[in-house]
Amino acid sequence: MQKGNISVQTENIFPIIKQFLYSDQEIFLRELISNAVDATSKIKTLASKGELKKELGDLTIDVKLDTEAKTLTISDRGIGMSEDEVKKYLNQVAFSSAQEFLEKYKDESSIIGHFGLGFYSAFMVADKVEVITKTYKRKKAVTWTCEGDPAYTIEDADKKERGTDIVLHISEDSLEFLEKSRIEGLLNKYCKFLPVPIRFGTITETIYEGEGDDKEAKEIEKDNIINNTQPIWKKKPTELTDEDYKAFYNELHPFSAPPLFWIHLNIDYPFSLTGILYFPKLTNNIEVQKNKIQLYSNQVYVTDNVGEIVPEFLTLLHGVIDSPDIPLNVSRSYLQSDKNVKQITSYITKKVASRLEEMFKKDRPNFEEKWENMGVFVKYGMLSEDKFYERAAKFALLKNVDDKYHTIEEYQEKIKPTQTDKDERVVMLYTNNPAMELDNYTIAAKNNGYDVLKMDQPLDNHFIQKLETTLEKVTFTRVDSNTLDKLIDKDEKRESVLSEKQQEKIKTVFTEQVTDMGASITLEALSPDEQPVIITKPEFMRRMREMSAMQGMDMSHMPDSYNVVVNTNHPLITERLLNAKKKQGDLAKHLYNLALLNQGMLRGTDLSNFINRSIEFLAK
Ligand code: ADP
Ligand code: MG
Repeated sequence: MQKGNISVQTENIFPIIKQFLYSDQEIFLRELISNAVDATSKIKTLASKGELKKELGDLTIDVKLDTEAKTLTISDRGIGMSEDEVKKYLNQVAFSSAQEFLEKYKDESSIIGHFGLGFYSAFMVADKVEVITKTYKRKKAVTWTCEGDPAYTIEDADKKERGTDIVLHISEDSLEFLEKSRIEGLLNKYCKFLPVPIRFGTITETIYEGEGDDKEAKEIEKDNIINNTQPIWKKKPTELTDEDYKAFYNELHPFSAPPLFWIHLNIDYPFSLTGILYFPKLTNNIEVQKNKIQLYSNQVYVTDNVGEIVPEFLTLLHGVIDSPDIPLNVSRSYLQSDKNVKQITSYITKKVASRLEEMFKKDRPNFEEKWENMGVFVKYGMLSEDKFYERAAKFALLKNVDDKYHTIEEYQEKIKPTQTDKDERVVMLYTNNPAMELDNYTIAAKNNGYDVLKMDQPLDNHFIQKLETTLEKVTFTRVDSNTLDKLIDKDEKRESVLSEKQQEKIKTVFTEQVTDMGASITLEALSPDEQPVIITKPEFMRRMREMSAMQGMDMSHMPDSYNVVVNTNHPLITERLLNAKKKQGDLAKHLYNLALLNQGMLRGTDLSNFINRSIEFLAK
């Protein structure tokens, strides 16, 4: 037997390993299994080059628990190691890289755990580790043993088969790793898509033999293979059907509604990346749906925290990204400035945009059908990334109150003849509450030959601002922001049939009745076809208010400000009200209340008083 010390530095690294990585001990399993996978891939490569004399044999990696001996063993049939290689790779290389890693990231406890430190992470959970290994070369097998201090031993072993067994003697404070369910959970988390089959004991399956009355249930023992060695993202899109994609989505997110569609990523230059991004059906609880993209490195699960790699607006997507080129062993700030990561982000953005454009061009009705759900992603992207805006501007859709979709450009062209104002600006009219309060305003605008957009989706407020600042000479105006005459200001002046004096009288009557703090009364000479009294909410003020409320400001102390516009050409004003002997006030109040009602602003006692008075009036 040989003895030695792992490193020339006598400083003991093991307590540090234990202490540091305590929060994420579980990654040891991922590290040891990925070493086993690496060793297996190497032997496959050698075999394919004809450098292996013997048969490859069954390459399945075994994970075994022995609760009595308190060991967890990982066995592979990879290239194995000779005595010299054990000394070199385990004593020098692995150890020095472990040490280097720890020194570098001592202060960044957060990244530890997203990155393993390879072989030595075994000592987070084991107080003794044995490595029994036989190389594929004609050399003897050896056992390397280390008990969590710099001293190790190497002795001959009588292992016949090529490969490596890593035996972990689980320490007293890590006994959870002797539980079958715990290990199964970890294997499912980290190893589900590794390229070499991994067996964790056996499972019993019930099968039925025979027909009819002779039918017999039989229990059979089967290998418990926990991984799918050929996940679909590694395959060519041409080999896959929609059902394959949906089934895989279901595997990733059981119980979720089927995805709207997906994008298969596949690139090998200037970096290598594969993956599938799914557009999920959005639910109201968007936060819950976030961060569902899993990141893999050569099929090894790394994290589901892909914030830096996927552009923010795409974190709502689901699926997987697999890239050996994403530097996983570096800190966050570094990741953000990394050239590869930047390229990956912009590649993904580009790819998503071009896939959407392709869908739009190929099958527009289908695209329109999906827009309701997908629009939020696209708008979010257009708001947050200028590059994406440029591309998406071609297929982003605007929906009008008749449920017709137009691209931004189509829409501009469509409304230009009727909705250009005196300053040559194209005025896009919209409502953000199509079903309710603004219905009358919308109908009036439509009867006047205008088109009205539905802007009632989550990000539409911001989207409107974005379009206004990006498009030239385009402005958005909600249907109730002005009277119909002035909604699109064409600089056409109308005269009132009333004299100055009559108008003053009308104003006095209304001033007495409209006592609300936020209301200001104006008299306007409108078309006799417009309503006698109209509530308008100037666009700018209303937006300010909405924005403040969205930023969490308490607006309750500020009265809702609005205009009460009295139409000085409406017969009810010019004849009835002006000529009424008594009850002028009552009539003014009634008209004012009707206008409030039209806006959904008449509530509580005001509403019940109004109704009671109307009933009394009808009874007379
Ligand atoms: P890394 O995997 O990044 O090289 P590790 O600390 O995980 O670092 O492993 C150190 C080295 O030990 C590996 O590079 C490999 O040469 C060797 N090794 C570890 N596990 C095995 C194994 N199961 N079979 C063969 N060689 C192994
Ligand atoms: Mg490794």
